[in-house]
Amino acid sequence: MTRHVVITGGGTGVGAELARRFARDGAAVTILGRRMGPLHDIAKETGALPLTADVTDRASLDAALSQARATHGPVAVAIANAGAAASAPFSRTTPEDLRAIMAVNVEGVFHLWQATLPDMKQAGWGRMIAVASIAGLKGFAYVAPYCAAKHAVIGMTRALACELATTGITVNAICPGYIETPLLDRAIGAITDKTGISAKAAAQSLLAGNPQKRFIQTGEVADAAHWLCSDGAASVNGHALSLSGGEV
Ligand code: NAP
Repeated sequence: MTRHVVITGGGTGVGAELARRFARDGAAVTILGRRMGPLHDIAKETGALPLTADVTDRASLDAALSQARATHGPVAVAIANAGAAASAPFSRTTPEDLRAIMAVNVEGVFHLWQATLPDMKQAGWGRMIAVASIAGLKGFAYVAPYCAAKHAVIGMTRALACELATTGITVNAICPGYIETPLLDRAIGAITDKTGISAKAAAQSLLAGNPQKRFIQTGEVADAAHWLCSDGAASVNGHALSLSGGEV
């Protein structure tokens, strides 16, 4: 049976590469995001079903998932990849900044997984995957809300993995270091704006902690997610898989 794979943030960066990887493998793929433009481009390339949804808004997500099920059937794999980062000194971070980052990076994962859980329970098989970050495994300066959010995602992953352990569903987080995506471009832009250093120097500063001194590629994240969906990964549950060249 063709597996239905739902990927949030599927129009750009990691999410787009996940869509390519699973579509190449013959899965029925649904990609979600707020902007139809990027989703449409990836849909054209991969054959994925593009649907707009805001993962922070359960009603919006539920509406999109209803449409997705009408086309591709029950959801077998839910990849919570949508996320956002913002940097600022802690003293200038507002409660609203914190809430906004928690909403997309934590509530977005919660909503997707809770909304797709009945499909997986009914099937007796499922894969829940979060694209977290090594910011969920260690601290980084100037991104306290993002680190808090990614740590929370890993906590939720571990808890849900225990709760669902006998159901045929596994729950795991992938924790990459810096990946070459639009999000990284924005992070480098923010550093150059704030410090006046060149983009090359900003990139090097981000690579300082990575023993391999290179950015992670989106294909590496997609391969990890693909492996987590394989039968050989059935006992990998509640794991936070670091893809960081040995940084964590
Ligand atoms: P990206 O290209 O900016 O992707 C983020 C995606 O999330 C976009 O497609 C965006 O689409 C979607 N999104 C954001 N807010 C949303 C919302 N409220 N509802 C629905 N979709 C939303 O960056 P990326 O690097 O591929 O990020 C993917 C994941 O990897 C994120 O969880 C990020 O934290 C994680 N990560 C990234 C890095 C890195 O260095 N790039 C490192 C570690 C982990 P719309 O704007 O159209 O909604």
